Amino acid sequence: MDKLNRVRIADILKMQSFGQTINVKGWVRTKRGSKTVSFIALNDGTIIHNLQIVAELANFDEEVMKQITTGACISVNGVVVESFGQGQHVEIQAKEIEVLGTADPLTYPLQKKGHSLEYLREIAHLRPRTNTFGAVFRIRHNMAMAIHTFFHERGFYYFHTPIITASDCEGAGQMFQVTTMNLYDLKKDENGAIDYTNDFFGKQASLTVSGQLEGELAAMALGAVYTFGPTFRAENSNTPRHLAEFWMIEPEVAFNDIFDNMQLAEDFIKYCVKWALDNCMDDLAFLAEHFDKELISRLQSVVECEFVRLPYTEGVRILEEAVANGHTFEFPVGWGTDLASEHERFLVENHFKKPVILTDYPKEIKAFYMKQNEDGKTVRAMDVLFPKIGEIIGGSERESDLDKLSKRIEEMNIPMKDMWWYLDTRRFGTAPHAGFGLGFERLLLFVTGMANIRDVIPFPRTPNNAEF
Ligand code: ATP
Ligand code: MN
Repeated sequence: MDKLNRVRIADILKMQSFGQTINVKGWVRTKRGSKTVSFIALNDGTIIHNLQIVAELANFDEEVMKQITTGACISVNGVVVESFGQGQHVEIQAKEIEVLGTADPLTYPLQKKGHSLEYLREIAHLRPRTNTFGAVFRIRHNMAMAIHTFFHERGFYYFHTPIITASDCEGAGQMFQVTTMNLYDLKKDENGAIDYTNDFFGKQASLTVSGQLEGELAAMALGAVYTFGPTFRAENSNTPRHLAEFWMIEPEVAFNDIFDNMQLAEDFIKYCVKWALDNCMDDLAFLAEHFDKELISRLQSVVECEFVRLPYTEGVRILEEAVANGHTFEFPVGWGTDLASEHERFLVENHFKKPVILTDYPKEIKAFYMKQNEDGKTVRAMDVLFPKIGEIIGGSERESDLDKLSKRIEEMNIPMKDMWWYLDTRRFGTAPHAGFGLGFERLLLFVTGMANIRDVIPFPRTPNNAEF
């Protein structure tokens, strides 16, 4: 076969001039035709649309044509011609075809159209070849680009926090342990406690649940930073919004208070959603058509509306009023309790009909590092609540006062023996600062309209599932 430059299908479909001979490579989606001609729908992942390849059977070996089945990979040299068929304006008149890889129709798992999302999860190694997951993963890439661009344009530095950590201040109970010890031969001391001195790090170590504490160290030097990395939580909750391994974006900014923090969160999400509308419309249109008719209007409304800012106390009052008026929730609601997803969604979807930033939560249900309010009861926490999702962002202004912070740590019985370095930020040149964590997959749930978080990450890790 003649060696020609390969052109991506995304670029071929944009061509306005015809007659040139090019090479295209991709995977066969379907083949149909008559006794004299075959029409092959080819996809190379660069765009959701397929390219039509027209092959006059008289010009090709019958054995080669037989191998061109759904899932096979082929390389085609051919002429770009104007198409008068439906749904496309260019097609390729094939001159030479080489089969790079066959796919036996009897065993290729993606034969039939319209597989369920549940079935596709079982073949997560092949699901990127479907229209749905091609769209989701192209959008996933675009959201990562949007995030880095947003922060870079605003002078934030991308800071890499460790994935292995020895501090368990936040995630006690839901951390995955990291060890090289022989679990069949564990050494214990006289009290029956495990002796970690011979373990790899000389102490107990785990996978991180958040890069925030190290992010704060960086903010006290570089001013404005963000992390964007994998995060691990061994929470045994089988919900459509929780993964054991997910990606989190955590900006941390010196001199920001909670109001600056809320504005940053709002600007940030709007920027990402607008990026999707500006750059991913083909994929969004496909997902809207197949899964969620209101997807695009929902994205547009988030970009245009102003997020509500509401104190927790006020939010609880609205929920209690709803209960008094006959609305039933599965979980009880009252001042001091953490809100369940159903409560968050009620505020967003039923009451305000737009995103809500809930602030000033009771200190008992929030982390030790949040700035304490004058009232002695609440802290400067902020959760951003979204339609269909519930919590998409959790953040706060941080407690910058060493004495107040230390007292809170004692009250909460947090083992801080390994945290001297964190408290040093408050000992030396402490400053007001604030930050938040955005769950990358929660953002993707919102942007793609997919209903289950397992369908917006290539290889989901959940309880009892770490295949692929
Ligand atoms: P939730 O109440 O939904 O479990 P959280 O309060 O534990 O969330 P944070 O600790 O504030 O969440 O983490 C910051 C963000 O990370 C959350 O707002 C959410 O977007 C995301 N997140 C938290 N846990 C998970 C998880 N298990 N899987 C995916 N994303 C998560
Ligand atoms: Mn959680």
